[in-house]
Amino acid sequence: MKEYFDRLYRKGFEQFIEEMEYSLENEKKCFIVTANPETFMIGEKDRVMEEILLNQNVSVVPDGIGIVKAAQMLDYNITDRITGIDIAYKLLEFGHKMEKKIYLFGSRQDVVDDMKEVLGKTYPKLKIVGSQNGYVEDKDAVFSDIKAKRPDIVLVALGIPLQEKLIYRHLDEFDKGIFVGVGGSFDVISGHKKRAPRIFIKLKLEWLYRIVLEPQRLKRFYESNIKFIFRIRRYK
Ligand code: UDP
Repeated sequence: MKEYFDRLYRKGFEQFIEEMEYSLENEKKCFIVTANPETFMIGEKDRVMEEILLNQNVSVVPDGIGIVKAAQMLDYNITDRITGIDIAYKLLEFGHKMEKKIYLFGSRQDVVDDMKEVLGKTYPKLKIVGSQNGYVEDKDAVFSDIKAKRPDIVLVALGIPLQEKLIYRHLDEFDKGIFVGVGGSFDVISGHKKRAPRIFIKLKLEWLYRIVLEPQRLKRFYESNIKFIFRIRRYK
């Protein structure tokens, strides 16, 4: 797992967003993985996820506070979180400004519909060239549609590791596009769920807010985060 930390982006949020804006403007293809402890734990057990995390063409950014803290314990100079939801909002903003094309894949149909409505109102110059809910059986086939539409931004909200593996499987078929697995971001952008209040984010307790609101997350939290902490301590 130590090698995964070497792959983490270290120049901070502002710099990352600037580089992403440049890539979008210049049609550079890019695949962003927003890492939390669960991502690294899956990487240890799953060969494909490991390959993704170690691939030099993949940008791995520190999303969860658990990753930031662990990186600091291991003496990496990482201070900022770069979250999937913040990346998504920045891409929407830049996409609107540059009049780019976006494809939305994932979440329930009602969430996708509401998200499209929100985007239409808030980012009217962003062109939604296609969308698909995340419960279709053949998810690989959706990528044929994505390819045909030639989007500049592809947000995939299917949850980890499904979203990363799908993007990775099809990435070679594209010559441009910013691809990001954004987890539950559509639920927030569409207005179906609220992001944690600012104070929780500031106190680095966004994870706690999500567990209190959705206690079914507790098992997943234990499986990834608690085990992860013990793992990191062993390295120390
Ligand atoms: N989802 C989906 N298809 C599936 C399973 C999940 O589209 O087969 C969606 C789900 O509706 C949710 C997102 O994937 O919008 C995963 O959200 P979650 O909050 O679990 O992701 P996290 O942000 O925790 O990574």
